[in-house]
Amino acid sequence: MKNLLTTCRDAEKNGVAVGHFNVSDLTALKGVAAATQELSVPIIIGASEGERKFLGDHQLAALVRSYREDTGLPIFLNADHTHSLEAAVAAANAGFDAIVFDLSALPFEENIRKTKEAIGVLKKINPDILIEGEIGDIGTGSHIHDSIPDLSAGLTSPQQAKKFVDSTGVDILAPAVGNMHGMSASMVHGDVKKRLDLKRIAEIKAATGSLITLHGASGTNDDDLRKAIAAGINIIHINTELRVAWRQSLDKSLAEHQNEVVPYKILPPVVDAIRQVAESRLRLFNNL
Ligand SMILES: [Zn+2]
Repeated sequence: MKNLLTTCRDAEKNGVAVGHFNVSDLTALKGVAAATQELSVPIIIGASEGERKFLGDHQLAALVRSYREDTGLPIFLNADHTHSLEAAVAAANAGFDAIVFDLSALPFEENIRKTKEAIGVLKKINPDILIEGEIGDIGTGSHIHDSIPDLSAGLTSPQQAKKFVDSTGVDILAPAVGNMHGMSASMVHGDVKKRLDLKRIAEIKAATGSLITLHGASGTNDDDLRKAIAAGINIIHINTELRVAWRQSLDKSLAEHQNEVVPYKILPPVVDAIRQVAESRLRLFNNL
């Protein structure tokens, strides 16, 4: 099976992007895996520090490996937004394929120095592991925000991106290009869509030649996503849309099964709701 690096570079050649979906539990993993099987495309399963703390590094790695073996599909595992070297080392040791080492809250030079140090340590554990670094401000928290934060001051410049990629040696770059973690209530209703700085994406790609991830893509205008892929985005993160589907379908199923206590009778509609979101996003990312 192709590794994650080759998978991303092949996606780039084919003008498509690899979908990255965060999971917090087996219900979400089952839904995302079902979407992958339906479409036979590569995907990345992501888990942030909070999600990994709930699921367990080794437990999640074993589950994802079992899906990969059962389906024969390129299903990869990423340690999303990891803020300490200790947590990154734990994920590398558990067999994750990639790590987002996120020190974007630190001053730029310190982010460069510590990211470079971490890459040295992590590649010794697994030379094939891909390390993603982050610069700029894309907000925090894949949940429903009361208001839409103004992140315009924290956009990534092409010069900054080039310096960061050249100085650290990251495999993948996560820039701030109009994207944002989480959604507002108006985005959940579909009244408002996130818009991306497409020109900036193209400039960052031209300056770095690096693989580029779009974080916080939930609630983004579909046409912007297509154009962002054409401009150089290689991996697209969806989390909040899955969480909204999880919550809404769970509420509905519980309401429809008032006296039911059997989880496997309550949860199938939740798995299916998550599958539908993941499948529709994968169709868009893969031009299907
Ligand atoms: Zn993210």
